[in-house]
Amino acid sequence: MKLPDLDYIRPKTIKEAIGVLVAYNGEAKLIAGGQSLMPMLAFRLLAPEILVDISRLPGLNQIDIRPNGIHFGALTTWRDIERHAGLKNAHPLLAAAICHVAHYQIRNRGTVGGSLAHSDPASEFPALVTTCGADVVVYGPGGERTIKGAEFVLGAMTTSLDPDEMITEIRFPVWPTARRWGFEEFARRRGDFAVAAAAVFYDLDASNRAVDPHVGIIGEAERAIRLTQVEEFLAGRSIDRDVIAKAKALGEEVAQTSDDIHTSAKYRKALIGTMIERALAAAAGIQRGPVAT
Ligand SMILES: Cc1cc2nc3c(=O)[nH]c(=O)nc-3n(C[C@H](O)[C@H](O)[C@H](O)COP(=O)(O)OP(=O)(O)OC[C@H]3O[C@@H](n4cnc5c(N)ncnc54)[C@H](O)[C@@H]3O)c2cc1C
Repeated sequence: MKLPDLDYIRPKTIKEAIGVLVAYNGEAKLIAGGQSLMPMLAFRLLAPEILVDISRLPGLNQIDIRPNGIHFGALTTWRDIERHAGLKNAHPLLAAAICHVAHYQIRNRGTVGGSLAHSDPASEFPALVTTCGADVVVYGPGGERTIKGAEFVLGAMTTSLDPDEMITEIRFPVWPTARRWGFEEFARRRGDFAVAAAAVFYDLDASNRAVDPHVGIIGEAERAIRLTQVEEFLAGRSIDRDVIAKAKALGEEVAQTSDDIHTSAKYRKALIGTMIERALAAAAGIQRGPVAT
């Protein structure tokens, strides 16, 4: 379908962009990569009066690896992340997870800010923000504020962003080099949205026991979440085959899935368990056993 009739503006500064959002009082939409917004406009799921094109705002597509964390400008694309030389060392979990986002053409245009603002429950980046405890920096008429990652995504395509605010930066905490991690995803085809995924990481104490484990999953209907029950189970344990099997079973039990057009709730639960199992095995450096036939 053709796009609805709308106006278009390309502001030169963040302040100017916010000015347009304020002036249109909820009837303006920011556009960054356009990879989620354009389909929504074409399907007439949205009909704003004006598009505010922020894609060429200067200084918002940098990746800064600093001693206090890793900062992504909101206009950083998936391709920028993929091509960044230092990121695989600075945040290997993030670099690995982003490889699963979409297809080549979309990866060239889609941005981290757009993904987070759109907040599809099956998207990798919002799941990483939640699991890793990143901070989201937003700018609005009152100036800048910082929102904790876990509080940013409220539900499916719902965030705590006000209609006249824009995301400017996402800040991930420092990643210790010895940290153990794993990311596993199941999608119908490579680049499709995840049906289920798990991101796990933990540090090790002197006795090789897991310290501060984080287990984030994609697969619940509303948004990616951390499975605190699984995290509590893993804390203080050596991550061996027996512990992984129990964590898998617990993950399956506590994940809140529902039937949808893609799959049944039961199958998705089983997938979530398997993704947790594989991610933990990768983190612990344990080879998977032979597949039963
Ligand atoms: C076929 C297909 C497959 C895909 N597969 C995946 C996948 O596997 N995983 C995945 O994560 N994504 C996937 N995507 C989505 C893709 O990653 C999008 O690029 C991304 O979700 C949105 O980024 P964007 O820059 O294109 O945002 P846009 O489409 O420009 O905007 C999306 C929304 O965010 C708002 N917005 C944009 N930037 C900002 C900002 N800085 N501050 C506040 N609001 C903002 C817009 O107003 C709009 O509401 C897929 C898309 C397609 C079309």
